[in-house]
Amino acid sequence: MTDRYAVIGNPISHSKSPQIHKMFAEQTGQDIIYVAIEAPLDGFAATVERLRKEGYKGCNVTVPFKFEAAMIANGISSEAMDALESNNEADAINTLLFQTDKIGGRNTDGAGLVNDIEKNLKIPLKHKRILLIGAGGAAAGVLNPLLVASQSPLVIYNRTLNKAENLKKTITQHEKFQHVSIKPVEFGKLGDAQFDVIINATSAGLTDSEIPLPETVFAPGALAYDMMYGRETPFMKFARKHGAAVVTDGLGMLVEQAAEAFFIWRGVHPDTAPVIKALRQQQ
Ligand code: NAP
Repeated sequence: MTDRYAVIGNPISHSKSPQIHKMFAEQTGQDIIYVAIEAPLDGFAATVERLRKEGYKGCNVTVPFKFEAAMIANGISSEAMDALESNNEADAINTLLFQTDKIGGRNTDGAGLVNDIEKNLKIPLKHKRILLIGAGGAAAGVLNPLLVASQSPLVIYNRTLNKAENLKKTITQHEKFQHVSIKPVEFGKLGDAQFDVIINATSAGLTDSEIPLPETVFAPGALAYDMMYGRETPFMKFARKHGAAVVTDGLGMLVEQAAEAFFIWRGVHPDTAPVIKALRQQQ
């Protein structure tokens, strides 16, 4: 029987997830369908309940429901889920797995980002100086796996300082990060620090807004990574101009986070390279 999955968001019409999962299913021979569903802004939990009653096996969750998804996940896990660095302490979840009376939740964005950087771009994160720009859902979702991969101090740089401070507070409640140096810094106060990996996890690119960065912020060989995809953002343009060695958007992360979700649901790892290539050709 065909198993059903969905991505829930608002708005959702722009989502590439149905196309990505269709390609994964064709490639792996998994019998699934995957649809995009727009939930009313006050109707996320009710939409999940409806899908569960209709027999769906799981869903992805996107803006603005990732924090609500964390509230309804009630604890089941599986081998595939346990293999991921848990982000539940960051309270932003993008993948739900439905079982008879329970809902499992994980955030696959962080694994997606780390896989894109280390596997696809072939840039090891270990001992790299990382600047994470942003302190919203996307930043919260990737912080744990980034820290595990880098094992290094990290700076969270955000327009609103107290959101960066809250993110630090949340992550350092986790025992394994209690002694990790995480420094929240507000826009304009970076000084002359240099970084090897600079990740833009803000939505500033949506409005073509600049991120205030010193021109010297990119260390020799630095990676500039914008989680946004679909167009060259002001951050990417700035990085090209001021010495980043590698500049990329977040399309690879999008496909890699989807692959992690597919593995949670189906126990099969799809090959992401041809899917990334196909989507790049459409850009
Ligand atoms: P969010 O929770 O709304 O957070 C937005 C963040 O962007 C906050 O840190 C906010 O700063 C900052 N921001 C917004 N407008 C800004 C501006 N004009 N200048 C500077 N900072 C600004 O959003 P999110 O869920 O974290 O998503 C952020 C981005 O990541 C989106 O573009 C999303 O598409 C992308 N994303 C991509 C993937 C992928 O797979 N490639 C996955 C997840 C997310 P304040 O705290 O000061 O408001």
